[in-house]
Amino acid sequence: MTAPRTRPPSVNALAQRLAGRGIPHPILVDLARQAIADDAVDEYEQRAANFSRTLLTPVINATGVLLHTNLGRAPNSFDPPYEAITVEFDLVTGERGSRQHAVGSLFARLCQTEAAMVVNNNAAAVLLVLAALAEGRDVPVSRGESVEIGGSFRVPDVMERSGARLVDVGTTNRTRLDDYRRAVERDDVDAALVLKVHPSNYRIDGFVEDTSVADLATLDVPVVADIGSGLIDADCPWLAGPPPAWLADEPAAVQTLRDGAALVTFSGDKLLGGPQAGIIAGQRDLVERCMRHPLARALRPGGLVLHALQSLALAYLDRDVVTQVPFWTMAAAPIDELERRATAIVETVASAAPGSRAIPTQALPGAGSAPGVTMPSWGVELDIDVVDALRAREHAIIARRVDDRTLLDLRSVQPVDDAAIAQAIIDVAS
Ligand SMILES: *Cc1c(COP(=O)(O)O)cnc(C)c1O
Repeated sequence: MTAPRTRPPSVNALAQRLAGRGIPHPILVDLARQAIADDAVDEYEQRAANFSRTLLTPVINATGVLLHTNLGRAPNSFDPPYEAITVEFDLVTGERGSRQHAVGSLFARLCQTEAAMVVNNNAAAVLLVLAALAEGRDVPVSRGESVEIGGSFRVPDVMERSGARLVDVGTTNRTRLDDYRRAVERDDVDAALVLKVHPSNYRIDGFVEDTSVADLATLDVPVVADIGSGLIDADCPWLAGPPPAWLADEPAAVQTLRDGAALVTFSGDKLLGGPQAGIIAGQRDLVERCMRHPLARALRPGGLVLHALQSLALAYLDRDVVTQVPFWTMAAAPIDELERRATAIVETVASAAPGSRAIPTQALPGAGSAPGVTMPSWGVELDIDVVDALRAREHAIIARRVDDRTLLDLRSVQPVDDAAIAQAIIDVAS
């Protein structure tokens, strides 16, 4: 004998149950229908909650990784305008203008070079440069720089897609100027340019040698340097003091161009601190060939990104980076300020979470920038593993699990979020 079955609630009744919780009605109807079909009506509310968690959601990044790849790299601080903007309109003449002109000129000025343009990301920048300048021709690359960078940007693959032919030069650990010269001068090689790639996310130590841009610039072909992280100037004139130690070996646009690179390419959302974008900067004739290539249209950025990049470039030119660009606000936070914040949080939560303490930590720039280096920081360590509970909160906090403890690193947290962190610790500890 089978147990009497109660009739499932109607799709509409289920959908109504969660009306007004911020999930659009058609989605609630889909979830309700699916729950009924799966004979899982009791899971309906949980499924709706799970749906909300799949949406893009602002979170508190307490991982200590400032440019967290899974959290969108550099946090954005520039609000988009709520009006039409002059993306391709020249206000002076009233005629059609160039989408690259305003932001390109600002970046050329910043990089102290002739011209610049913007594409969707740095992978697109490298692809476009190779397609525009080297399609059907050869491009020598050091075997030590034929790298893979973050989820599927592989130099040989990008090269192949661009239509340029990769010519391997030197060895994995050592590549000298002579190796490049022999490649460029080979009868069977038609070198369009030499590509130098910053091996952002890894480092070889020991018996290693690479060839500087200044040396490569003595060759008879243009040098294109993919510097990756988008550090504009190694002197960091926007900081009050000298460049921080963690920047040690990071190549910068101004110096790489000054050393003789014909073009540099870099990301917008790494050390530059802006939105996802790729910037190509350098000799005007080469940048213009990139702009004219048919791929430029497919890789071009939209008005939102251009506007954010423009605000960013203006902040750099004003040397007002530390207050306006969140990555640099976090990177420049004085260590005693971080210690003070960590101590204050620990004092606030002391009675609810007696096992918490302020500890010195090592934060990371992230996003493959400055591999192997850390930034001194402070954090709050809890003697319990509440990483999942902190992430499950409405305003999710992403913390680090260390053994069975929880670490919240404050260098990647904006000070306005300290109170939310303290409250969260009190809630999950009790
Ligand atoms: C990060 C990086 C890339 C890829 O840049 P995206 O902006 O993520 O497309 C390419 N080259 C180098 C050297 C990089 O560091």
